[in-house]
Amino acid sequence: MNIAENLLQIKKELPESVRLVAVSKLYSGLMIMEAYNTGQRIFGENRVQELLSKRELLPKDIEWHFIGHLQVNKVKYIVPFIHTVQSVDSLKLLEYINKEAAKLDRTIHVLLQVHIAEEKHKFGFYFEELISVFDKIQVNSFPHICFSGLMGMATLTKNKAQISGEFSKLSDFFKKVKADYFAANADFNTLSMGMSEDYQLAIGKGSTMVRLGSKIFGTRYLKL
Ligand SMILES: *Cc1c(COP(=O)(O)O)cnc(C)c1O
Repeated sequence: MNIAENLLQIKKELPESVRLVAVSKLYSGLMIMEAYNTGQRIFGENRVQELLSKRELLPKDIEWHFIGHLQVNKVKYIVPFIHTVQSVDSLKLLEYINKEAAKLDRTIHVLLQVHIAEEKHKFGFYFEELISVFDKIQVNSFPHICFSGLMGMATLTKNKAQISGEFSKLSDFFKKVKADYFAANADFNTLSMGMSEDYQLAIGKGSTMVRLGSKIFGTRYLKL
């Protein structure tokens, strides 16, 4: 199987309501071009330096999504071109993105990352924490942020019931937040959940965006 065939197969199975992010971290620019040449335009990266060097060489109509933990001091490097930051995990980061985007008069799409996994080292807001953030902020006081939805990663486990349970909770929470805080905001429509090993479960629970790396590109081999 090659990248183009993998993509074709995946796109055949994906419901129309689900968008595909090709997670290209640790894969080469040539491999990204193979995916690009099949029509794929949304790519996800999780390290700023790697993203900057790839972006330099690759077509400018790629829609880049940042999907890793982002330090506030690095925000300024990606704001000139990033489409979506899927991994906003603090109010401070939200404020920095808004501030840097204001300087360039850009609007950055943002997904708030929610901590649903068992592993403590994973990033993201806990449910209650995110509610208190929404209670505290006025979303319109971030004029350069487009609040687009939520993102979450399930626990790395073979236990499908556990993964499904985590996706289910996130999906219920998404609906609640959408109704309570974004009822008037049609942009808040993305629930990014599901990776190569668990995306079918995620789709079953209402995911609207899956982030697939190894399922498209195979084993990661670049060492950075
Ligand atoms: C690496 C990564 C993915 C893709 O992982 P695969 O298992 O290769 O599909 C998805 N989301 C995030 C946040 C990641 O860091």
